[in-house]
Amino acid sequence: MSDDTIRSTGHRLAIVDAALRMERIGLNKGTAGNVSVRWKDGFLITPSGMPPRSLKPDDIVYVDMDGVPAGSRKPSSEWRFHRDIYAGRPETGAVGHAHPAFCVALAVTHKAIPPYHYMVAKAGGRDIRCAPYASFGTQELSDHAMAALVGRKACLLANHGMIAIGPVLDSALSLAIEVEELAEGYWRALQIGEPVLLSDQEMESMVERFASYGENAQRGGV
Ligand code: 13P
Ligand code: ZN
Repeated sequence: MSDDTIRSTGHRLAIVDAALRMERIGLNKGTAGNVSVRWKDGFLITPSGMPPRSLKPDDIVYVDMDGVPAGSRKPSSEWRFHRDIYAGRPETGAVGHAHPAFCVALAVTHKAIPPYHYMVAKAGGRDIRCAPYASFGTQELSDHAMAALVGRKACLLANHGMIAIGPVLDSALSLAIEVEELAEGYWRALQIGEPVLLSDQEMESMVERFASYGENAQRGGV
């Protein structure tokens, strides 16, 4: 077996594991959401409409940057925004998309997550934007998502869910969990009053701090 085949099998297994983890921790239910990893001149992505527990490594689909799939399954209907993220964000090695309850609660009211907590800066900026609505799987949705992700590693999708990206699968998944945590915190705060927001200056300083915090410290900042 060639090195490439072995490495691709490793990524395929990691994608199946990530899809299972997303379901186990409640980020996704049923066939909602999708996961991908950059691979060669394209990416490996979960197939469309298959529940994580039924996934096998061979079900993961390779898609090239022109959107041409290879394999026996149909790629996720959201391959366009995965493709556009890999094309437009060279630092990105993995993309996760989910429909977690609190992100959806904010996204259906078209609310961004404002700087109500310093951890919002983990997504790369002062807020986590909410991209305008477009039907799932469309180029329009991808265009909206790309705009909402400018200078950010996560965004909400109106009336839909959220996207988190990272240099590797683990970082994209961790960020997805953190964004859902932040969505829940903001949602809870809205029940009791108007959250007090941090200043732009403080958020800029937090973004800088996170660039050399935790896993980014080993990578020299992302
Ligand atoms: P797929 O099963 O095609 O990946 O679709 C799930 C989804 O979340 C669409 O936005
Ligand atoms: Zn979706």
